Amino acid sequence: MDFSHTEFAFSRLSPFQMRRYALLFQLLQYRAWVQIGVAFLLQAHKWKLPIHRLVKRNLFQYFCGGETLQECISVLETLRSKGVGAILDYAAEAQSGEVAHARTFSLLQQTLAFCSTSMGPGFFGVLKLSALSEMQELENFDSWKSTPACETLRGRLRQLATQAEAGQGSLLVDAEESWVQGGIDALTLELMEAYNETRAVVYITLQMYRHDRMALLQQLVRQATEKNRYIGIKLVRGAYMEKERARADAQGSPSPIHATKADTDAAYEAALDFCLAHRDRVSVLVATHNEISTQRFVHQLLAEGISPQDSRYTFSQLYGMSDPISFTLAQAGFRVFKYMPYGPVADALPYLTRRALENSAMRGSANREYQWIRAEMARRRRAR
Ligand SMILES: Cc1cc2nc3c(=O)[nH]c(=O)nc-3n(C[C@H](O)[C@H](O)[C@H](O)COP(=O)(O)OP(=O)(O)OC[C@H]3O[C@@H](n4cnc5c(N)ncnc54)[C@H](O)[C@@H]3O)c2cc1C
Repeated sequence: MDFSHTEFAFSRLSPFQMRRYALLFQLLQYRAWVQIGVAFLLQAHKWKLPIHRLVKRNLFQYFCGGETLQECISVLETLRSKGVGAILDYAAEAQSGEVAHARTFSLLQQTLAFCSTSMGPGFFGVLKLSALSEMQELENFDSWKSTPACETLRGRLRQLATQAEAGQGSLLVDAEESWVQGGIDALTLELMEAYNETRAVVYITLQMYRHDRMALLQQLVRQATEKNRYIGIKLVRGAYMEKERARADAQGSPSPIHATKADTDAAYEAALDFCLAHRDRVSVLVATHNEISTQRFVHQLLAEGISPQDSRYTFSQLYGMSDPISFTLAQAGFRVFKYMPYGPVADALPYLTRRALENSAMRGSANREYQWIRAEMARRRRAR
C-alpha cells in the first residue's frame, strides 16, 4: 500500500488552507519556539487574555473538529464522503472537582448519544479517566477503590458502557501517565469483564512504549479465555515519553519506557502479531501514524484472507495528522476512523499544546506531515 498519494487525502483543503497547514507544520519543527509559544498560551489562558481567536484560527482549526457537536457536523460529513469515520473525543483532560467531573460525564453521554444516532452501529466513543476523577485518586487507587467517590465513578462508567452497548458501538478508554495507569487499567478491566460477554464493547488502551505491556496483553488473553470474554485493545506506542523519563530521573527509579525507538517499534509489532494470532478473542484498534507498522499489518490481514471490513480490525489516526494514511486505507476498503477532539477552545488547550509539543519533539513525524503537504502543493502547481 502506497501512502504517498496526496491528492485524495488533501482534496478537502483549499490552496489557502494548504499554505496555512504547511506553515503550521514548518513552525512545529522549531522545538525551542514551540516551547515558548506553548508557555505563552498556557500563561495567557491563566491570565484570561483574549487568545480564543488566535488559538481557534490556528492549532484548533487543524487538530479539532469544532467547539460543539453541531460545529463538527460538516467535518464529519466530509470525512464520511471519503469513507472515513470519526471518533469524537470531548477534549477535556485532568479535570478537577466534582462539578467538572459531573459536567464531563454529561458531555460524554451527549457525545455517545450523538455518535449513536448520527453514525449508527459500529461507532466508537472515548473517555479519559483523568477527566472524570482526580489524578491523585487514580494514583492512590488501592486506598481509593472502595470509597463512595469511586463508586460514583464506577456507576458513571457503567452508564457510558451501557449506552455504547445499546447503540451497538464500543467505548475506548484512553491510556495516560504510568503513575495513574494502574487505576485506569483496574477500572477498565472491571468494565471489560461486565460488558465484553458477546463482543468487544469496552477497549483498553495499551501503550507499547512500556516494557510491561506485552506481559499484560498475554495475561488479558489468558483471563479472557478462562472467563469466556472478548477483548478490545486500542494499541498505541504512547504519548508521555518525555514526562515519564523526567519523572523516573527525578525519583531515581528505572524508566517504564523502552530504551530505544526500535524497541518500542518491535513491541508494537509483536503486540499486533499476538492480537492477530488470538483473533478468536481479540479486536484491535490500530492507533498509529507509523507507515511501516500500518503497511505490515495490512499485508498480514490480507495474507490471512481477512476482509478489510472485518469489524475486529480498525485503523485510526489523529484528526489533522497522517491524512494520506487514513484516506489511502479507506480507499482500499479498510475501516478507518479519525480521532477527533472537540470542545471549547479553553478545554482543548491542554490537548492542543500537547499536540504541538509532541510534533516538535518528534522531528521525523512533523517532517513527514510537512513533506506530504509540500508534495501535494507541488502536485497542484504541476496540475495547473
Ligand atoms: C487514534 C490514536 C489514539 C491515541 N490514544 C492514545 C492514548 O490513549 N494514550 C497515549 O498515551 N497515546 C495515545 N496516542 C498517541 C500515541 O501513543 C503516539 O504518541 C503517537 O501516535 C505517535 O506514535 P506512532 O505510532 O503514531 O508513530 P511513530 O512516530 O512511529 O512513533 C513515535 C512514538 O514512538 C515512541 N518513541 C519515540 N522515541 C522513542 C525512544 N527514543 N524510545 C522509546 N520509544 C520511543 C513514543 O511512544 C513516540 O510517541 C494515540 C494516537 C492515535 C493515533
